[in-house]
Amino acid sequence: MSKVLVLNASYEPLNVTNWRRAVVLMLKGKAEQIEHNGKYVYPELPLPTVIRLRHYVRVPYKEIPLTRRNILYRDSHSCQYCGYTGDDLTLDHVIPRSRHGGDSWENIVTACVRCNVKKGNRTPKEANMILRHQPRRPYSSLHFEVAKQVKGGVHQEWRKYVIGV
Ligand SMILES: [Zn+2]
Repeated sequence: MSKVLVLNASYEPLNVTNWRRAVVLMLKGKAEQIEHNGKYVYPELPLPTVIRLRHYVRVPYKEIPLTRRNILYRDSHSCQYCGYTGDDLTLDHVIPRSRHGGDSWENIVTACVRCNVKKGNRTPKEANMILRHQPRRPYSSLHFEVAKQVKGGVHQEWRKYVIGV
């Protein structure tokens, strides 16, 4: 069923909820509609796709675990050196572990087996291999979810409220 992006009073994205909860927030006067999709749930109440809370809420930053799955997802399941997408994907330490490169969002990227072997124990510069994107920590778990929806072709209208999707 249709999902709704909830913005904080400051217009920062807060979370994703279902349309029923969003409608309840609106009916209670706790949120206002920012975007709708033109379908009607009740007369004079178009189905919201983006709402904004009237009062600002504070949220602590939620850490996203550094896992193989999350790194592959961040890198769109593609080799960050040659762009290959397929099953033979590995994780590469940009600065090799043997050279004191750590386990971090900034130092681990998705690489195909070929590129990983070719790069070996070298830095990208030494191996003359250029990273397609500078690896970075994802903004938030919400950002992950929003990016997934937008990349999946739904909720294009969310794009303008979230940086970098
Ligand atoms: Zn590759």
